[in-house]
Amino acid sequence: MKHSRPAVGMVPGGERLFQRIYTRLGCEGRPPHFIVEYHPYTDLTHTIRLREDVARVRLSDVLADAPAAVVEAAAAILLGRLYRRRPPADLIEIYRRYTYSRSTRRRLLLVRRDRAHKTEHCPAGTHHDLDPLFQLLNGSYFGNSLPRPRLGWSRRAWRTQLGCFDPALNQIVINRQLDRPGVPEYVVAYVLYHEMLHVKHRIKFVRCRRQSHSVAFRAEEKRFTDYARAIRFLDHLPARPRR
Ligand SMILES: [Zn+2]
Repeated sequence: MKHSRPAVGMVPGGERLFQRIYTRLGCEGRPPHFIVEYHPYTDLTHTIRLREDVARVRLSDVLADAPAAVVEAAAAILLGRLYRRRPPADLIEIYRRYTYSRSTRRRLLLVRRDRAHKTEHCPAGTHHDLDPLFQLLNGSYFGNSLPRPRLGWSRRAWRTQLGCFDPALNQIVINRQLDRPGVPEYVVAYVLYHEMLHVKHRIKFVRCRRQSHSVAFRAEEKRFTDYARAIRFLDHLPARPRR
């Protein structure tokens, strides 16, 4: 999607722009050396970090084709926060109008949708990789007959469920909360196995709901070698998402 291709790299004229706003805000002393870059955030986030005499600025790459005044306004907001100065009202107003405009809203929605989508489609988490696990389970329990859906980790930790198979998108997403070194592989395998059973017992449902767990489903679930161990572990999770 061309709308959300990241405009990575230095912001043209970024250093001069920040120096100018630094002066305009009435900050005292010699300004730091500004390194100003675009960053592919999933929203309109901008950050500034001052270390000795270098200020590292990351502007949301959504600003890459915004009018210059909007970038100035973002600079005023960041510097105002860093040096406790009130940004000029005209810049605040420009920024407010920009963020509330319909085209910016639409643009942000596309960026969020596209970037969130991509992270959820990476089966390799930080500690557990769903891809080899899927193959292993497919061989052990399904005679390699299960077609592989898209596999991924949720972008954020979910509080209410461990995993989800979405038939409409043909994807299994596993709760990121389980992608941790303290979570044994058999636990991740069990949750993935459960979602794989939903692929096998495919019925039309929106989300993983209790009703979709038939007696046959629950019986087949218990065939998982580490079933009891996995359940015991999951019952002791601090936030206890339902199965
Ligand atoms: Zn389920």
